[in-house]
Amino acid sequence: MSRFTVSGVSLPSGLFINNEWVQGHGERLQVVNPATEEQIAEIETASREDVDLAVAAARAAFESTWGTWVSGQERGQLLFKLADLVEANIDELAVLERVDGGKPAGWARVDIVDTVACFRYFAGAADKIHGSVVEIDDQRKHAVLRKEPIGVVAQIVPWNYPLLMMAWKVAPALSAGCAIVFKAAEQTPLSTLRFAELVKEAGYPAGAFNLVNGVGAVTGETLSRHLDIDKIAFTGSTATGRRIAVAAAESNLKKVTLELGGKSANIVFAGANLPEAAKWAAFGVYENMGQSCSAGSRVLVQESVYDEFVKLFVAAASAFKVGPTEDEDTFQGPQISKVQFDKILGLIEAGKAAGAKCVLGGARHGTKGYFIQPTVFTDVDMGMRIAQEEIFGPVASIIKFKDEAEAIAIANATEYGLAAAVHTTDYNQVNRVTRRLKAGTVWVNQYVIVSHQIPFGGYKQSGWGRELGMEGLEPYLTTKSVHHYYDEEGFEWPIRLSKL
Ligand code: NAD
Repeated sequence: MSRFTVSGVSLPSGLFINNEWVQGHGERLQVVNPATEEQIAEIETASREDVDLAVAAARAAFESTWGTWVSGQERGQLLFKLADLVEANIDELAVLERVDGGKPAGWARVDIVDTVACFRYFAGAADKIHGSVVEIDDQRKHAVLRKEPIGVVAQIVPWNYPLLMMAWKVAPALSAGCAIVFKAAEQTPLSTLRFAELVKEAGYPAGAFNLVNGVGAVTGETLSRHLDIDKIAFTGSTATGRRIAVAAAESNLKKVTLELGGKSANIVFAGANLPEAAKWAAFGVYENMGQSCSAGSRVLVQESVYDEFVKLFVAAASAFKVGPTEDEDTFQGPQISKVQFDKILGLIEAGKAAGAKCVLGGARHGTKGYFIQPTVFTDVDMGMRIAQEEIFGPVASIIKFKDEAEAIAIANATEYGLAAAVHTTDYNQVNRVTRRLKAGTVWVNQYVIVSHQIPFGGYKQSGWGRELGMEGLEPYLTTKSVHHYYDEEGFEWPIRLSKL
C-alpha cells in the first residue's frame, strides 16, 4: 500500500476493504483546499467492481462472527476503543478537516470532540439493545421479539461535517452489529482515510467497516442500486436523496433513511430577549459558513421590534471574524468549493434583483479562496428565491411578520421541515407555537445546538427517519418475532379457535 502526505499527515492510498488497503479502479479525484484554491491531494476512487468487492466483504463479515455472535458488550468495548483513538488523533484529524473542508481550526476540533462523544454515546448503548417477550394469554404460547442488526448498510455523507456526519451513521450501525460500506463526499475524503486506519487499530474484524470513496454518480449510485445491501443511510441534498430513494425502490427495496435539506425559520417575537435572540439567530445562520442543513436562514421578526432587531443582528454578524482557517479565532472560513461559491453569489444577486435590501456583505471576501462576506437581507418576502431555496452559505433573509398566526404560516410555507426556533419569554406562546411548527427539531431561545441524546431528522421533504438518541439505533435494527408454541394435547383438525 502506498501513502501520501497532506499538511504533515501521512495517509494511506486506496480503498479500505476487509481491513486491507486495496487499489481503487475509478477515476482519480482531485482534492482542493477551498481557502487557497490549491490542489492538495489526488485520491483513488471506487469503480462499480470495487464497490461489489466491498459489499461482498461486508456481507461475509455480517454472516459470520461479526453480525452473529459478537455480544453487545464486546461491540461497546470496540466502540469505546475507537472513540479513544479518534480522541488521541484529534490534531491530525482536525488538520485534515481544515485543509479539505475549509473549516477554521477551532471549529474543526469542535467537530471531532463531538464525533468522539457520539461514538461514546452509541458505545454505551450497545449492550442495552435487547428484545422483549410477549406472553399470549391462552398459556400455550409466548413470542420472543428479537432485535437483530439489519445487515449490510451503505452510508453516504456530505462535505459539511465530514467526520461528524460519519459518526452519526457509523456509531449506531457498529453499535447494532451491522457491517458497513461507507462513502465520504468527493470534496472531503481525507479524514475518513485516517479514520479507517483507526478502525483497524481498534480491533474490528475484517469487513465490519469498509471505505469506498468516489463520486456520487458512480460509487454512490452503485451503492444505492446494489442488490446485496439491506439498508442505505444518506445525508445531503433533497435532490440526491430523492434519487437514492428511487434507486433503492427500483433495485431491492432496501430500507432508506434520509437527512436532507432545510430552509429553517428562526422566529423572534416582540417579547423575546432581543440581544440574546439576535446572537443565537446570527450564530444559527453563519455557523459552519452557513453550510448546515439546519441553518436558520430565514429569520422571522415581529414588526414592532423589527428595526431594533435588525440593528442587533447586523452587529452580531459583523462581529464574526472571517479569515485564515489556521487562525484559532477565525469564525468563518471559505465555502467548500467553486461550485458552491458561485451558487451562493448567484442567489445573493437574485435577492438583490428581487428587491430585497442587502444591509451587510453581499460579495466575495478577499481575492483568494472561496470566502463570502456574511450577508444580511432585509425586506425579504416569501416569494423570493432567497426565502425559498436552501442557499447553504452565509446569507440571512430577515422577514417581517404581524402576529403569531402569520409567523407560523410563514415558518411552515416551504417544502422543507428540518428545524425551527422560537424566541420569546412567554411560555404559553412557546407551547402554542412549538406544537404548530412542522419541523423535526424546534429550539426555544437557542439555535443549531444538537445533542447525541436527542433524535434529529426532518418533516416533509427534509427527510425520512431520525438519527441520534436511542431512536437513532432503530434504522439499524430489525425485529424478528419468534413464536413459541406449547400444546400438550397436540394438533387436531378442525383446530379449535381458542387454540390459535
Ligand atoms: P449532494 O447531496 O449531491 O452530495 C452529498 C453526497 O451524496 C456526496 O457524498 C455525493 O457523492 C453523494 N451523491 C451524489 N449523487 C449521488 C447519487 N446519484 N447516488 C448516491 N450518492 C450520490 O450535495 P452537493 O451536490 O454536494 O451539494 C448540493 C446542495 O446540497 C448544496 O448546495 C446544499 O444545498 C445541499 N447539501 C445539503 C446537505 C445537508 O446536510 N442537508 C449537505 C451537503 C449539501
